[in-house]
Amino acid sequence: MTANIDYLEKNDPAVFNALKGEEERQKSGIELIPSENYTFPEVLAALGSVFTNKYSEGYPGRRYYGGQEYTDIIENLARDRAKTVFRCEHANVQPLSGSAMNQAVYLGLLEPGDTIMAMDLSHGGHLTHGAPVSHMGKIFNFERYVTNPVDGSIDFDQVRKDALKHKPKMILAGYTSYPRDIDYAKFKQIADEIGAITMTDASHFGGLVAGDAMKNPFDFGFDVVTTTTHKSLRGPRGGMVLCKKEFAKKIDKSVFPGLQGGPHMNAIAGIAITLLKAQQDEFKQYANQVLINAKTLAQALLDRQASLVTGGTDNHMMVLDTSISYGINGKVAEAVLDQAGITTNKQIIPDDPNPPLRPSGIRIGTPAATARGMGEKDMVQLADWIVDALQNPEDENKIAGIKHDVEQLCRKFAVPGLD
Ligand SMILES: *Cc1c(COP(=O)(O)O)cnc(C)c1O
Repeated sequence: MTANIDYLEKNDPAVFNALKGEEERQKSGIELIPSENYTFPEVLAALGSVFTNKYSEGYPGRRYYGGQEYTDIIENLARDRAKTVFRCEHANVQPLSGSAMNQAVYLGLLEPGDTIMAMDLSHGGHLTHGAPVSHMGKIFNFERYVTNPVDGSIDFDQVRKDALKHKPKMILAGYTSYPRDIDYAKFKQIADEIGAITMTDASHFGGLVAGDAMKNPFDFGFDVVTTTTHKSLRGPRGGMVLCKKEFAKKIDKSVFPGLQGGPHMNAIAGIAITLLKAQQDEFKQYANQVLINAKTLAQALLDRQASLVTGGTDNHMMVLDTSISYGINGKVAEAVLDQAGITTNKQIIPDDPNPPLRPSGIRIGTPAATARGMGEKDMVQLADWIVDALQNPEDENKIAGIKHDVEQLCRKFAVPGLD
């Protein structure tokens, strides 16, 4: 029933070999990019299923094409499960990715030129939070709040002053590179004073909210929460918009027909599967272990004199300042660790003096390693390897030795869906 790609070996060896190479790469190295994960085997199967053949423009019960008896079942399951998992009134599961889901929210609830308050990009905000190079940055007016790099705190007196001055229509909490949790109550209080919509972009930590390991913005009265489905949630690539009932119509119209055409029903099948798993004890244990592993790895790095932005982590990621710690920029650090079989990504740090492609640090996260079953002991071992490699970026023998050890460790932990 599931897709079988082995026929490719004969018919299209170029693609077949790249695919096998990627499988091997995912098996033999340690994945520490905080936004990546290994999806469930059932989700891989759903992605390669016949649902990819189907056009389903519209929503369950009111589609533009016939033949929807099974796609309606799938999408209703995904929507209902999303509402259960995130304790919200409405869910749209059609966004094709995280970027599209955020665009759909802004375009659906605001007018061009409206002001949105969001986190400064070098302090952890995402491109879709109005980076000048993004279309959203051109359509809407973004005002920024910053964090204290020493402890990661947000100066809410300043946020309030700026909110009263700029009168944003929306206050956006959420990040792509910030190792702390969010004080939703404070954001909500300020938003209520000026009548602004409250939105959280939980793209990175949606799975940790789903697994009850991190706070849920809806418990603090937030209006809208967006999340990708492929990061900590471990589902297929995609996005969801979760919201209060009063915004449901506007959000649905904005996703389709406002922004997108036909939804990817194979991905929505994968989202439905993921959201059933997210309700099970095993997933809650996973979400908790992601945090335990992150804290353990952060502490082990600190014990080895590494400099972490904000001094540690409350979530699944940490930002390592490689310039201060080892005198190398994030691009070099990423390349050295890559050679050692440890995958991270270069990352700008708050008020980074260096440009984005040669920034001062790297981002390290535990969702993928935890999905493979790695635990605290492995995190301490990882810290040893990371520090050893970054202290000796030009010692090829040492790097090769670490790569060998990394592969040995990886053999003990299956990649979900592969072994
Ligand atoms: C990853 C991410 C997105 C975008 O998701 P894509 O699927 O890459 O488009 C949006 N917002 C935040 C905070 C993210 O981390």
